[in-house]
Amino acid sequence: MLNIVLFGPPGAGKGTQSQKLIAHYNLVHLSTGDLLRAQIAQGTELGLTAKKLMDEGLLVPDEVVIGMIDYALQAHKQTASGFIFDGFPRTVPQAERLDQLMAQHDSGINCMIALEVPEEELVARLLERGKTSGRPDDQDETKIRRRVTVYNTETAQVAGYYAAQKKFHALNGIGPIDSIFGQICAIIDQHKSPVPETPTAATRQVQA
Ligand code: AMP
Repeated sequence: MLNIVLFGPPGAGKGTQSQKLIAHYNLVHLSTGDLLRAQIAQGTELGLTAKKLMDEGLLVPDEVVIGMIDYALQAHKQTASGFIFDGFPRTVPQAERLDQLMAQHDSGINCMIALEVPEEELVARLLERGKTSGRPDDQDETKIRRRVTVYNTETAQVAGYYAAQKKFHALNGIGPIDSIFGQICAIIDQHKSPVPETPTAATRQVQA
């Protein structure tokens, strides 16, 4: 399995790069933001509670997003060749729990890649996206800046969690989409687990 965490502040380009990565590596895209917005669209109780926090640019409680990821991993475990986690984990407890969940599936996170973009560029990108995304949290500069602050104060420390495991890489998130994609692929290819060697007749004899 190949499991990648795509990291970075809102507007860094995680969604765009995820779409290219799922096609290139045949991975399942798990975006907690998308999963939460699906709950809102369905009008569930979870969605209603999450919406208030999301509209303010605040984080949804850890146990809510961890529950959604646990459910999605169970749903895809038979068929997926790996996952891209986008917007998750956003806190250290989420990262710890993700490691436990992956271990239950006899798997682990290969690497985390962070896209770095300065705040003024993020604000400009999100206000532009807000013109068509329909997302209330993309349409108000105060809320956008709060999301960036939440990222800097609560989420950025997740990078240290993966750095301690030698799995963290940062990239400049400004530049042509395809060039950033190429740099992400180069990092992922370094972290891919070696494919187990298929035994040949000769090695089978030696093993026997
Ligand atoms: P995103 O689509 O990743 O920008 O997420 C939109 C909003 O959903 C965030 O501002 C949070 O309110 C909420 N959210 C998404 N993922 C998480 C997460 N892993 N932990 C807590 N809240 C989250």
